[in-house]
Parts: sequence; C-alpha cells; structure tokens
Amino acid sequence: MNYSAIKKCDIANGPGVRVSLFVSGCTHHCPGCFNPGTWDFDAGEPFGEKEQRDIFAALAADYAEGLTLLGGEPFEPENQRALLPFVREAKRLFPSKSVWAYTGYVYDRDIAPPGGRAHCEATDELLSFVDVLVDGPFVESLKNISLRFRGSSNQRFLELHAPGGVKDATERYSPSDGRRA
Ligand code: SF4
Repeated sequence: MNYSAIKKCDIANGPGVRVSLFVSGCTHHCPGCFNPGTWDFDAGEPFGEKEQRDIFAALAADYAEGLTLLGGEPFEPENQRALLPFVREAKRLFPSKSVWAYTGYVYDRDIAPPGGRAHCEATDELLSFVDVLVDGPFVESLKNISLRFRGSSNQRFLELHAPGGVKDATERYSPSDGRRA
C-alpha cells in the first residue's frame, strides 16, 4: 500500500489533535472529491516500517487524541489488508486512543455484510479496532462547508462499538445545522 500524506497534528478529521494517515487508492471517483491525487493506488510513497514508527511516536504525545485513517479509500480491500497489522499494533500500543476511519463505502451495504463489495477477510478484525467510521461517498449536491468533520450531509458518523451495537452519532459529532458540537 502507498500513502499520500501523514499529518501529525490534524484537527480537521475527528476530535482533538489527531495523527492522520492518507492512504493511496480510491475507486469511487466522487465528482468534486477533495483529494483526487489519492485515487491512484501508486500515488505517493510505500507505507513501510519507518512510516509506522513515525506515526506511533506521534501518537505517544499526550496531546494526540487518536489515529484517523482516510485517503484515498482505506476500505478498498487491498488497503484493508495492508492496514490491518498496522492498526492492530496501534491499538495494542495505545489502547486508550481512538481510531477514526473515513470511507466512501456505505457501512451496512458494502462493508459489514460478508457479501458486500468492500468486505474481505481483513474487514471484521479491522472494524474491531475502529471506534468511529465516517461512511458514504462525497455528494457534491449535498456539500455544506458548515458541516464539521465531513464534506456532504449524507455522510454518517457511526460508533461501531456502542452499547447495544452500531450507533449513528452523526448529530453528536457533526450537527446537520452546523452547530459546534
Ligand atoms: S471516497 Fe473520498 S477520496 Fe475517494 S473519490 Fe470520494 S471523496 Fe475522493
């Protein structure tokens, strides 16, 4: 897997100061995409051990609230397979820090069901490490710059391990009227 960028003090993609990994490769090609340079799976540089060590060092800072995975498309199956051992290790080292992930796939249609087009042998374990999944493609006609942590109003914030199961927490993290949560 290649990556396009690593941001060690990101405040735009989840709560608090986060360490964000922008993976390369996305097959959605949403019109108006904020990051079309990441569509090519060969864009950027290989994501290797040095990059992983750098991210773990950044996550060790007290002010770092967690890790965010975005892109590109972290849930392209080839990216899931590459991300799984890295995210497993991140959670082992930093169990109290949250993991957020962004995807253009729809969780309950494409990712969670065994027959979903983004479901592969890595999916269930990868999802077990993700606290909040922001799902759905960017839809230009639903773009709203007042929305927090998302580009269009169709995108949902799913708490994957809430008591009782998956919980739609969109209004909590990114109110549809643009209020600050
Ligand atoms: S899923 Fe994200 S990276 Fe991929 S085309 Fe849509 S907005 Fe761009």
